[in-house]
Order: sequence, then C-alpha cells, then structure tokens
Amino acid sequence: MSSKAGLPGRSRSRADPDLLAPAPRPARHRSDHQSTLLRFADQMAGAAADLLALAVPVDCVCCGAEDRALCTACERHIRRLTREPFRAESGAPALMDIRGTVLLPVVAAGVYREELAQALLSFKRHGQHQLKTALGRSLAGAVRAAAGEGPSIALVPVPTSSAAYMNRGFSPVHLLLAEASRQLPGIGVVNVLVKTGKEGLRLTGGQKGLDRGARAKRVRGSMEVRRRGQGRVEGRRCIIVDDVLTTGATLAEAARALHQAGAIVAGGVVLAATRPPDAGGGGAASPEDQRKQP
Ligand SMILES: [Zn+2]
Repeated sequence: MSSKAGLPGRSRSRADPDLLAPAPRPARHRSDHQSTLLRFADQMAGAAADLLALAVPVDCVCCGAEDRALCTACERHIRRLTREPFRAESGAPALMDIRGTVLLPVVAAGVYREELAQALLSFKRHGQHQLKTALGRSLAGAVRAAAGEGPSIALVPVPTSSAAYMNRGFSPVHLLLAEASRQLPGIGVVNVLVKTGKEGLRLTGGQKGLDRGARAKRVRGSMEVRRRGQGRVEGRRCIIVDDVLTTGATLAEAARALHQAGAIVAGGVVLAATRPPDAGGGGAASPEDQRKQP
C-alpha cells in the first residue's frame, strides 16, 4: 500500500456523507423538539456508538481481514499516516486571501487517503468504538502540534447538520474530539457552536459540485455561538476542530461566528486534509516518508 502513496484523486472520490445535499426537512416549528432530542442524543452518543459497533461485522474496515474493526497492520498504517501533522490551509481556498495571506492557520493530522480515509469514512457511517480510539489518538497529536506551549486553549467542535445527526444518531466530530481530549490534559472542549438553520442556498447535488464562491455563500451565516448553556468563549483562545478539510468554507464560517462572539480564534485542527502539503504550502512539515522515497 505504501508504494502507492499519494493518490489523492482516488481517495477524494469517496463519498463523504457531510458533502451530500441535506435531506428535505420538516417544518420549522419542530425545531424545539429536535434540539431537545439532539441534546439527549449528545449524552447518549457514546453508548449508541458502542451498541452500533456490536451490530457491525468485525472485519477490518480497511483491508477486510477477519480480525477487529481495525486490524493491527492498518492501525499501524494510520499511525504512520498521521505521525507528522502539517499545516494544511494553503490547500483550502476559503482560508487564504487572493494575495496568498493566511486567513486561518489549520493543522491536519494527515492526508485524507488510504487507511486514514477508509477508517474515517467507516467511523462516520457506523461509529465503531475501535476506530474512535485510533482516530482520536491521531486527532490528539494534531491538537498538540497546533496548541503548542502557549496559554490555555479551548477546543471548539464544528456543529453537525441536524439532518446528518438525525440520520446517524451521533456526531463523529464530537465523539472523536471527546476521545482526543482524554489524551490532552489541561485542554478543554467548549461545545458552543450551533447551526442557525439558515443554510444560504438550497442547491441540489451537494457541496462537491459547488464552486468556491457558491459554497462559501451557502455556509455563510449558518453557524452561531449559543448564548446559553455550557462554556463561554468570549476572550478565550480557541481552536476549531473538524474531521475533514476540503475548501475550508466550514472552518471559515465557524471562525466568523466565534469572532463575532468575542473569541480569539487561534486556528483550526482537522483529522485529515483532502490536499497534501505541496511545494507552495506554508507547511510546518512535509511527511518524512515522502522524502525517503526513491
Ligand atoms: Zn486491516
């Protein structure tokens, strides 16, 4: 597998459930009822994911070996693919201005390909406990690289669309971040970002088919910081956390909402970036094994 490294075209063709068009939703007056359900689901998410794991066949989601949801060899590959977190914003047009200035620095644990892409996709569909452990560890490594030694940081997960939440019964980003934060003593998770329900344009075909401008327009105004409830971000240094970085429109919108609420947005962290660090990237590190290849 490693001799075939660097085939972003192949891995990018995988369908990401978050990039699909939202399902038609019932009338808005149900939203109160829905948010109660979502809060309840939040509490139950861990348990639900564990139960789901029992219902899913225990073949390795990457290679099919009859072992566990993730065999030892593939788990090792994921460690290798995420060993050197890198700066990924230069591959995300919504995070750079036209002069090439960085609007929001983002650290990615790895490139969205091979076992990392397969494991993440499977986790988003089925929520296997074992994948959560492996991927959460990779995410924790990227958070460590991004947070550095500075003053205390609050990690803010991007909200899942309620349609995706209702389909899955759990939020992959929240689960992965909860797992990662167990390995990050002193770094707190502040779950304050919510969807406003105002998703700019309702277009068919999902976000993948949209050009940069249309996609940015679609997410603008779609998030806000909830005024009541757990945690505050005003005056706090925050890092936004998401699973996959593509155009960066989602992170840009999260940053806008946090700024508006008075947070100090230090940057973003993602588990995987669809584009590898390239020659033009302001990358902190290009993966060691790429340099070693003949
Ligand atoms: Zn395997």
